[in-house]
Amino acid sequence: MAQLKKRLSYNVEGPCFVDSTCIDCSSCSWIAPEIFGAQDGTHYVKKNPQTPQELERFQMGLLSCPTNSIGDQAKRPIRKALDALPHLIEDDVYFCGFTSHRSFGAQSYFIKHPDGNWLVDSPKMTPYLVERFKELGGLKYIFISHQDDVADAFHYAEIFKSAVIMHAKDAGAGLKVDLCIKKDAVTEMGEFVIIPTPGHTQGSLCLLYKEKFLFTGDHLYFENGLNVFSEYCWFDFEEQILSVEKLKKFSSVEWILPGHGGKQKIERGTFSPAIDQMIATIKSTYK
Ligand code: SF4
Repeated sequence: MAQLKKRLSYNVEGPCFVDSTCIDCSSCSWIAPEIFGAQDGTHYVKKNPQTPQELERFQMGLLSCPTNSIGDQAKRPIRKALDALPHLIEDDVYFCGFTSHRSFGAQSYFIKHPDGNWLVDSPKMTPYLVERFKELGGLKYIFISHQDDVADAFHYAEIFKSAVIMHAKDAGAGLKVDLCIKKDAVTEMGEFVIIPTPGHTQGSLCLLYKEKFLFTGDHLYFENGLNVFSEYCWFDFEEQILSVEKLKKFSSVEWILPGHGGKQKIERGTFSPAIDQMIATIKSTYK
């Protein structure tokens, strides 16, 4: 629970606040950018919610903070925000909220599918999400984009008897991975395409769903155009750029859904040119 005595001075006046335990993961501003701002390595409340919709977004951000750094002195009921998670993005794709400090607040996603539901990366373990996943039909597959975003995936897998999918090069000793991707070629599973994208880590994977939703882990995100985290590359930045280039052939992508960094819907047909533009910018920056 957030502590009033640790309330940051950056917060605007009002009942809602972030305290000094914030780790600056950006989960709250990812969910409610109109409410949360960032400055000097921390997040803060830049605007107190004014409408029921804004209050719900604020509370979804509060519930999804991995360090419980967000507080509401007004102690308003939070049931509606709880019921809003997992939260629909589009079609049958949801974000889960409830990010984990073990993945530094990375976002995770839920896909409701007639052949069995998928969890893409892992939220923190909460009985609330377990119940929601049960209501939604369970979890047949748990896809882990890379080693940083395992969080509580194996706890969920145990409860739901899910098959865990991960690349061999990121699956450390002791992890019970059911579908271990070992090759560099894509693996197709019906409407799902698993794409090895080494760079951020050696075993980073992207997942393409319905040729439309691209789950990118920490490989690629959107902020004023496509972007990569050059300062948080744990394996090989040049290889990461080559892996981004390989994604160009999936030209029908309409959603970029990362673990960290901005999510974005883009116009169909603009994904490949956006990759070209990003790579040209990187090459001119690093030449
Ligand atoms: S979600 Fe919590 S830890 Fe992450 S930036 Fe917001 S307040 Fe900080």
